[in-house]
Amino acid sequence: MFAPPVNRLITELAKLPGIGQRTAQRLAFHLLSAADEDALGLSEAIREVKESVRQCEICFNLAVEDTCRICQDERREGAVLCVVEQPSDVIPIERTNEFHGRYHVLGGALSPIDGIDPEDLHIAELLERASGNGVREVVIATNATTTGDATALFLADALRERAPELAVTRLASGLPVGSDLEYADEITLGRALRARQAL
Ligand SMILES: [Zn+2]
Repeated sequence: MFAPPVNRLITELAKLPGIGQRTAQRLAFHLLSAADEDALGLSEAIREVKESVRQCEICFNLAVEDTCRICQDERREGAVLCVVEQPSDVIPIERTNEFHGRYHVLGGALSPIDGIDPEDLHIAELLERASGNGVREVVIATNATTTGDATALFLADALRERAPELAVTRLASGLPVGSDLEYADEITLGRALRARQAL
């Protein structure tokens, strides 16, 4: 329908999550009418991020050097490791200011149906890091989904087998702050009941 370069841009934009064909067209025409420096600034930023950002050699978080900023920070507690599925999961946990340990990014969650097995994730590296090296606790912060829960159970078993003295914990799931009980779904409420705490 459009000139081939415009079609190509629309096709590439439509591959982005949450961007349908219509939005892709709108963005493409926006970029066509934008100033050269703005449009090329976007393409340059994409190129730079792809060329300079890689995985931390220790925790598999995003890094611009061999290791990430958190692994380089000597003030962080080495005795506690927090296990997350993706690098993007590190950010919300950091924002809480409640966690002062280090991270381990798995690169996904176990899902046999999708062909994601233990050897496809950074599980062997986690077992290696968590046994010895002064690690006392592993906090499993995988998502509260079927695959995240299955991954947490698998990791708990593997960690206990490898390092029986290690404390293995899982993030509690409960009620959103500021919400009423009557609006909570039964799965969330059920989990909150099971994870109840003494006052
Ligand atoms: Zn790191």
